[in-house]
Amino acid sequence: MNPKKANKSLALETQLVHVGNDPSQQFGYVSPPIYRGSTAIYENIDGMKEIMQDPIKTQFPSYGRYGSPNARALEQALAQLEGGYSTVLTGTGLSAITTALLAFVEAGDHILMVDSVYWPTRHFCDSLVKLGIETEYYDPRIGTQVESLFRKNTKLVYMESPGSVTFEVQDVPAIASLCRSKGIITLIDNTWATPLYFKPLHHRVDCSIHSGTKYLAGHSDSFFGAIICNETVFPRVRGQALKLGQCAGAEDIFFGLRGLRTLAVRMQHHQRQALDMAEWLSGRPEVFEVLYPALPSSRDYALWKRDFTGASGLLAIVLKPEFSDRAVEAMVDSLELFGLGHSWGGFESLAITSDPSTFRKKENWSNKGALVRLHVGVENLDDLKTDLARGFGKLQN
Ligand SMILES: *Cc1c(COP(=O)(O)O)cnc(C)c1O
Repeated sequence: MNPKKANKSLALETQLVHVGNDPSQQFGYVSPPIYRGSTAIYENIDGMKEIMQDPIKTQFPSYGRYGSPNARALEQALAQLEGGYSTVLTGTGLSAITTALLAFVEAGDHILMVDSVYWPTRHFCDSLVKLGIETEYYDPRIGTQVESLFRKNTKLVYMESPGSVTFEVQDVPAIASLCRSKGIITLIDNTWATPLYFKPLHHRVDCSIHSGTKYLAGHSDSFFGAIICNETVFPRVRGQALKLGQCAGAEDIFFGLRGLRTLAVRMQHHQRQALDMAEWLSGRPEVFEVLYPALPSSRDYALWKRDFTGASGLLAIVLKPEFSDRAVEAMVDSLELFGLGHSWGGFESLAITSDPSTFRKKENWSNKGALVRLHVGVENLDDLKTDLARGFGKLQN
């Protein structure tokens, strides 16, 4: 399913409109039908035997868990957008992460994990101790000095850039090249940037992982995860997903494909709004620091500018340390347009408090002020600023 209009030589915005979709195969309808199914019928025994020989189940028909036509379309679309060989879909972003990790590690191995990683990823890695796998957390700004942490049993280096909640940008090209030269696998959580704004596989990362729940689906109404793989590691990751029984739901995949069609315009808008908001926030007297790498005054701006082609709508502020946690909670509670909720990447604005000092290594997070993470949605920006300004008023009480 790759019509001419989705040709790789066309601009990404154009590819997004057509990739993984071929109306001529669906009676001319612009959007594909949702294939729901567990069982698919083989033509005959010989056909069944041939397909069953395929250990990573790339052929049809076989069984719904191994992938529907919709799943294949989304897998191919994401691989094309990020320059991967193929994609493995899972039920959630977190299961994409756990599946990719388990594909590569075994008892006795050592994982180097970025300290700014999404907290549930950390929680999972810490649980791997019981399987005899050790996880060590490294400073997101370590760059190639990560080499000093390599051991004989270091199997993989995991990155997330920018980091969850605190938004440090990593030197992904340098770390990935170093690891490739040492035979160490690299994985990255690329959810923040989406396939539009950062392409890890172009920098020699082995797998780029997405929580499709966020911008890809884009409407806070579905869940899926994606592991975009290079050709070498794909069979291994697909094989692990099959062993674990991972797959994504039919409707969630449909929403993922549909989300791609408008991804470029949504991201451009989130980016414009978030950058304006970040600049406004950095002028507010209550704010100690704005954590958003696309902000020219931010610490990681140069690295972001070098490697990324855009920024999304997720950022954080660190408030001045004089405001108590209680005051900051009152501020967040008073917001009317920013919903208090986990996740992000939908059309709506969100705010949530987080205290990295409760889970990060002390040397990598020393801020004293309270942190509030903001997702800047597509509402009118002045309305959003008015809401936040009213909220800041609550800090003084
Ligand atoms: C939300 C999120 C995930 C997990 O995705 P789910 O679909 O909620 O399981 C993984 N990584 C990052 C950076 C996220 O923000």
